[in-house]
Amino acid sequence: MSDCLFCSIAAGETAAMRVLESPRTIAFRDNSPQAPTHVLVIPKDHYADLAELAGAGAGLLEEVAAQAHQIAVAAGVDQAGYRVVFNTGPQAGQTVQHVHAHVLGGRVMTWPPG
Ligand code: 5GP
Ligand code: ZN
Repeated sequence: MSDCLFCSIAAGETAAMRVLESPRTIAFRDNSPQAPTHVLVIPKDHYADLAELAGAGAGLLEEVAAQAHQIAVAAGVDQAGYRVVFNTGPQAGQTVQHVHAHVLGGRVMTWPPG
């Protein structure tokens, strides 16, 4: 999609601190980190939200989830624990309409989330 920020990052047209890539995903640091580790994993192709990603099939959602875990391993937070969040829709606070998994770690997480 031409006017999508994360499509632009996936295409290399907008700069981002990339940390990992798989055939169909890329991961980059959130530019407003909410934890010592805060990385976003996205599919390179455009899907608006979790419902569209789940509907894509062909293991794409699994690939995003596997990459989220690999981020946690690479950051050294997998043993202590980490959180993976898909904000989905306005009430959940989704602000970028290209599906992304937040991978958060490196500090104690509270529950319930705000
Ligand atoms: P959402 O609110 O949609 O769940 O998450 C969007 C995330 O994208 C936010 O955490 C925000 O900080 C991050 N973000 C927004 N614009 C940019 C950008 O240009 N570069 C990077 N690296 N992250 C961004
Ligand atoms: Zn997009």
